[in-house]
Amino acid sequence: MNSVQAPAVALREGRFPDHPTIVVTDTGLQYEGGHRNEQIDPDFRVLWELWGGAGGGIPLYGEFDPEVQREAADRLLCAYCLKRPDRVPGEGMLWLLRADAAERSWPADIETTTPPICRLHAELALQRCATLRRGYLAVRVREVERVGVLGTLFTDGGPNGPDELVRFTEADRLPYVLARYMVLALRGATPDLTLHPDLAPSPDRLLLEVP
Ligand SMILES: [Zn+2]
Repeated sequence: MNSVQAPAVALREGRFPDHPTIVVTDTGLQYEGGHRNEQIDPDFRVLWELWGGAGGGIPLYGEFDPEVQREAADRLLCAYCLKRPDRVPGEGMLWLLRADAAERSWPADIETTTPPICRLHAELALQRCATLRRGYLAVRVREVERVGVLGTLFTDGGPNGPDELVRFTEADRLPYVLARYMVLALRGATPDLTLHPDLAPSPDRLLLEVP
């Protein structure tokens, strides 16, 4: 896959966190030289990590560009083309996840940082990516909720360990996370049977289930 055909959400070489020094105050994190209230996201009340660097480098598959990811996840845009994906009436939008489809019961609730995908680009990704073909989950989702962020939690005045999930309901922790990725909850997800023909009921089974 060349870089033109890589997902828009893929992190590219040359991008890096780029922001003023972080200051921990009694009311939460802020960037030096300003006011927290003017720096946080007005809807989600979190301080987003700012990134810089040109976006034209080699794509790093499996890693998301934080600024593109949060835009695509928030507005439910296709991870490849950043356009509004199609919705199948009654089945909802499509997600293509790295997971094992066989080990779940349906419908399932799934939390993910992966944005949705349009049908065309789901097919393209499966055609071109052998790793994805070995373990993927294609689900249709009617109800999506933005539930939190993945980011660096600052406790005792400094950054504390690897990325943590902080939910928008966690009023005590939310002010102290430097938010990197938006986390979505996919509610009542069901497998897309056109991309998972193996999960469709077999004709034999259908016959047996007729009363
Ligand atoms: Zn697309």
